[in-house]
Order: sequence, then structure tokens, then C-alpha cells
Amino acid sequence: MGLIVQKFGGSSVADADKIRNVACIITETYRRGHSVVAVLSAQGDTTDDLIEKAREINPNASKREMDMLLSTGEQISCSLCAMAIEAMGYPVISLTGWQAGVRTNSTYSNARISRIDTERLLAELDKKCIVIVTGFQGINKYDDITTLGRGGSDTSAVALAAALHADLCQIYTDVDGVYTADPRRVKGARKLEEITFDEMLELATLGAQVLHNRSVEMAKRYNVNLEVISSFSGNPGTKVKEVVKKMEKTHVSGVAKDKDVARLALVGLQDTPGIAFKIFSLLAKEKINVDIILQSIGRGDTKDISFTVAKGDKDRAKQVLEENREYLGFDHIDVSDDIAKVSIVGAGMINNPGVASKMFEALYNAGVNISMISTSEIKISVLVDAADADKAVQAVHDKFFS
Ligand code: ADP
Ligand code: ASP
Ligand code: MG
Repeated sequence: MGLIVQKFGGSSVADADKIRNVACIITETYRRGHSVVAVLSAQGDTTDDLIEKAREINPNASKREMDMLLSTGEQISCSLCAMAIEAMGYPVISLTGWQAGVRTNSTYSNARISRIDTERLLAELDKKCIVIVTGFQGINKYDDITTLGRGGSDTSAVALAAALHADLCQIYTDVDGVYTADPRRVKGARKLEEITFDEMLELATLGAQVLHNRSVEMAKRYNVNLEVISSFSGNPGTKVKEVVKKMEKTHVSGVAKDKDVARLALVGLQDTPGIAFKIFSLLAKEKINVDIILQSIGRGDTKDISFTVAKGDKDRAKQVLEENREYLGFDHIDVSDDIAKVSIVGAGMINNPGVASKMFEALYNAGVNISMISTSEIKISVLVDAADADKAVQAVHDKFFS
């Protein structure tokens, strides 16, 4: 008997029947003697629909007002789920982020949880209530509502599990667990019984949306007992943990795709010391995150530097660099966002040169051209044309997993 945090994503609460199904999972856990805190996302495409509604009124709405709007989606699903549980005769209460004590910083639309004041939650649990909490939201020091970034309900759930010292945090979703690639897009994707926090963090950061990457970071920091499981099938899920059984073996645990990538190339740069420092410090001042960087060998006294940023940052990055054209000394900037990043993730790659060549062979056989490469201890990423991305993921997945 313990405390279990259960999170249900948008597709798990999309309509009345699905909410009743979630109510059954929650009450079944409660009936087995556990205390339950359930964290819910907004129903189905509600968050996208709300964004669209805002666009119709004001395409440049402030992030504060967007958070005020978007937070309502989770309030609807939570109250409806509490009503379903009431109807089943169990004690239940739904709480918004602020009622549940979720405090955040003030970065509207991408806020970070700073602490959770657990008094109210603990009081409700003491009364033997099932507690339903809105995911994705909190309040800042001005008592304004903030949201945590798209997919952020996973992070709400893990943060609540950490703050309440829960015995288990279950992320219920529309697939059976974490797979070797997106099971909806990649033929032959296999479910993983377990995966390390580090590998999961890389996969999530590199585009596997099954978990919000910050939720994995937090689960690792607070050693939360984390599991990804289906709301519908009843099959065992995937355990996400510090150490897995196969730790010492070199293996690729997954393939991920990220389309939120843009590439900028500064062409004809002066080949002088300090130029990389100048470029990337300008971008850092604008808080623009740079991912893969490639510098060409100089031709005469010029060279090129290419790098990738998130699509949303590309225009600002270009503008900042153009504004500093004389200071930097370059010929022109090429921008492309018709690209995607395809990555493989797995422990022990750095000590196994064969892994990279196997990935490149798969891409060569599939006729996919690579424009940039980046490696780390546990991942290899390549940049390809967006049109080739799905073919590339399938080819790489077939190579390692068929
Ligand atoms: P939820 O609404 O429950 O939060 P998401 O849509 O955010 O669900 O995440 C689940 C989806 O993640 C799955 O439907 C699947 O298509 C996608 N996905 C991408 N990569 C993976 C992966 N490696 N394993 C499992 N699911 C993945
Ligand atoms: N409803 C939010 C979103 O669609 C949060 C979440 O689902 O995790 O991004
Ligand atoms: Mg999600």
C-alpha cells in the first residue's frame, strides 16, 4: 500500500467513455488500498483548438493571456473525471495547479516548477480522497497562471510524485510503453521492457514525444519510480530507471525523429581566431539554443559555419547575425527549415565505432543524403531533408532491430 501518481494524456481522456475508463483505472488502484493522485491533460486536441481560437482573435496574444486560456483545457478534463468518480461513489476532489500548490517561475508558456507546496494535497489524501490535479500548469510569484510547455503534464506528474515521495509514477498513454521508435510510424518498432533515465532523456529530447524531456530529467534527479503504460490495453508497460539489466552491453535502444529543426549557414566568414566565439555569444545573449555545429575547412581566407536551432528561433537568429554583419564579416546567410534530425540512442556507443558506420550504411542503402552529423556518448544524430526523414528512420530502425 502506498502513494501512486497516475498521469493520463489527452487521448486517454478524449471523450466521456475514455474518461469513465480512466475513472475505472484510478478507482481500481484506490480500491487496492493505495492513495492516488491523478494528473490529467486536456481532452484530445483541446490545447491545439484553444491555440487556434486565440489566433482568430489575436495572432500576437501575450504569453500570459495564452497561459490563462490554455490552462482551461486541463480544468475541464479534471472536473469531468472527478464527476465520473463521484458517480461511482468514491471520495474525490479535483484541484487546479494553484490549488495543488504548484509554484513556477514566470516564463509564461514554458514555465519551470520551482516548488510544490503539498499541504492541501496531503490534507485531501489524509481525508482518503482521490485527488485529481490539472497537468501542465502552475502559478508564479504574481499569482498568475503559467503553463509548462507542450507535453508538460508528464512533468507535472513527475514533480508531484517527487514532492509527495510517491512510491510509483505511472504515465498512462495511448501506446503500450516506450518503443524502439514511434510505433505509429515505424514498422517493426518493439516495446522496451525497461530503459535508463539517460537514454530516455536523449530519446525525448531528440523527438520521441512519449515523455516530456523535463519529466525524465526530474525523474532522474529525484529517483522517481517511473513507468509508461497504456490506458487501454492492460499490457505491462516500460520501466524508466537509473540502471537496467543490460547496462554493460552495447546496444541501440531507439531511433527518434525531430522535425523542429532549422539550419543556418554563415557563408564566406573571415578565417580569423575568435569568429565562432563572436557568433555563438551573440546567439547566447538572445537565449537562442544552438544544437549541431559544423565548421568547414578554410578556402583561402574564408570559411563557412553552419548550425541548427529550433524552428521558432530561426528568424531571430538570422536577424541578430544580419545586424552584426560587419562585426562578424561574412558574405551571406543560408537558411533552411526543410530538414529533420534523425538520431539513434543507446548506452556504450562511444566505445563502439561500428555503430556509426552501421547507421550511415543504412542511410546510404536507402539513398538518404546526410548534411550534418553529431555524436555524443549515447547518441548519433544526422540531419537529412525533411522529405527523407520517415524513410531514414525506417531504414535505420530496420538495420538495428530487424
Ligand atoms: P499523451 O497524450 O498520452 O501525452 P503523446 O501523444 O504526448 O501522448 O505521446 C504518445 C505518442 O508518442 C504515441 O502515440 C507515439 O505515437 C509517440 N511516440 C514517439 N516516439 C515514441 C516511442 N519511441 N515510443 C512510444 N511512443 C512514441
Ligand atoms: N495539454 C497540453 C498539451 O497539449 C499538455 C499535455 O498534454 O501534456 O501540450
Ligand atoms: Mg504527452
